[in-house]
Amino acid sequence: MKYVDVHAHLNEEIFDKDRDEILKICEEKEIFVINCSGDKKGNRKSLDLLKYPNVKICMGIYPTKTAEISDEEFFDEIDFIKKNIEKIAGIGEVGLDFHWIKDKEKQKRQIERFKEIIWFANKNKLPLNIHSRKAEKETIEILSMMANVPVILHCFGGSLNLASEGIKNGFYFSIPPIIIRSGGFKALVKKIPIQQLLSETDSPYLGPDKERNDPTNIPLVIKQIAETKKIDFDTVQKQLFENAKKIFNT
Ligand SMILES: [Zn+2]
Repeated sequence: MKYVDVHAHLNEEIFDKDRDEILKICEEKEIFVINCSGDKKGNRKSLDLLKYPNVKICMGIYPTKTAEISDEEFFDEIDFIKKNIEKIAGIGEVGLDFHWIKDKEKQKRQIERFKEIIWFANKNKLPLNIHSRKAEKETIEILSMMANVPVILHCFGGSLNLASEGIKNGFYFSIPPIIIRSGGFKALVKKIPIQQLLSETDSPYLGPDKERNDPTNIPLVIKQIAETKKIDFDTVQKQLFENAKKIFNT
C-alpha cells in the first residue's frame, strides 16, 4: 500500500450500492482505509467492512450523541466496543462538538463522557480519532492532560495558535480534500511538521468538490499538501504512509 485514508465513513448507507467497487479501486490504487463510526448502527455495520483486505475500523460515539444519550445507552455502547476490542484499530469518531451542541449542560455531559472515552482508549492502548468542531481549545486541553495514546485531530478548524498547542503535544493532524478549496487548511498544513500530518477524506463529506467524497481522492490530498509545503509528491506520500503505519500498523 502507498496511501492511507485515516478517517472515512464507508459504513454509511450512501455507499451501499457501490462500496465493493470503491474498495476495489482503492486496492488497485494502493489506498488503505481506516473507517470511523460513532453510533449504534454504524459501529455494528462497520464490522462488515473487515472482510475487505485494505480496511481497518475504529469505533466510537459521536460527540453529538454523547451530549444526548442516557448513561445506560452510553455504557452499553462502550460495552459493545469492549466486546469487539480485538477487531478494532482505534477509538473514533469521538471528541467534542460545540457547533451543534450549544447548551452548557449538554456540553458538560459531552466533556465528562469524552474523558471516559479517553480513559478507555488509554486502558486498551488504542489511538484516538478526534472530532473537535468549535471546541478545539477544550479538546486539546483535555487530551494534553489525559491521553497517553496517539491522537489524530481530524479536520482541525481551530486557530494556528491552538494548532501549535497540538503540535507541541505530539498530536497528528489529518487533512481532508477540502484543502484544495480552503486557504485555512493550506495555512494549517504549512505550519504542521510533515511527521505529524496524515491524509483523510471524511467520506462521504468534505470532498474536493460538492460531489460525494470517497477514499479514491486521497492522492489529491497528497498532491495539495506537496504543493503547499513545496515538498515533492513522493516524499509526502511516503512520509504520510509511515506516519499512519506507526499509529495503525497499516
Ligand atoms: Zn467524520
